[in-house]
Order: sequence, then C-alpha cells, then structure tokens
Amino acid sequence: MNKIEHLGIAVSDMEASLKVYETLLGTTCYKQEEVASEGVLTAFLKIGETKIELLQATKPDSPIAKFIEKKGQGIHHIAFDVDDIHAEIKRLSEEGYELIHQEPKDGADGKIIAFLHPRSTEGVLVELCQDR
Ligand code: ZN
Repeated sequence: MNKIEHLGIAVSDMEASLKVYETLLGTTCYKQEEVASEGVLTAFLKIGETKIELLQATKPDSPIAKFIEKKGQGIHHIAFDVDDIHAEIKRLSEEGYELIHQEPKDGADGKIIAFLHPRSTEGVLVELCQDR
C-alpha cells in the first residue's frame, strides 16, 4: 500500500459541511460526484498529497444514512492507495481479512475500490483504491 489516498467523512448536510471544510483547509472542493450504486453524494477537497472525501446519503437506506443514524457525523473510512487492487484483495483474503467486496467496483474520483469489513480492522472501515 502506497499512502492514505483519502479520509471519508460522513455528513448530513453537504452544503453546510463543504463550507466548514473549505474554510478549515483554505481550499475549495474540486469535484462533487454521485455514486448511485452506494446511494451517496461525494465531494473532494485536496490537501497536500491526500484528500478529504465528504459523503452524504442520497437515499434513506444508504450506508451513509445508516452510519449517521448509529454514530452521528464523523470519520467514516480510511482509503489506502494500492497499485494492484486485485492482488491486494487476494493477499488480504488469504491473510484472513474480511472483504466486503471480493471484486473491485467503480468508486468516485476515477477509482476502482473495495472495502474491508471493520470487524477485520479493529473497528475501522478500510477502503482500497486504485486509479481506474
Ligand atoms: Zn472513500
């Protein structure tokens, strides 16, 4: 794994949260993108080598809606950049980690992604991502 690609933060009001993070980081959002399959609207801010991804639910049964219901707004996942996501999925499966996605799927911001279940990773939702 190469680096932390981004941190995902669950928010309930994208417009309000964007203002908070744009002011905090002194930068502007460079992309908003809906991932219909996950029921989320994403917004990205670049900070040095890494990014912040804000995530807002677009439907009541979205994983983000469920997360906020249980835990409130806050850090939702850590995403690690990998060169070969297929090889990483295979390696981590063989090491006994529980993958939510056995096959990578299309994610936001030009990536293919796969999530590891937080049960495997000390309570933290981990995303693997590779440039598409
Ligand atoms: Zn992410």
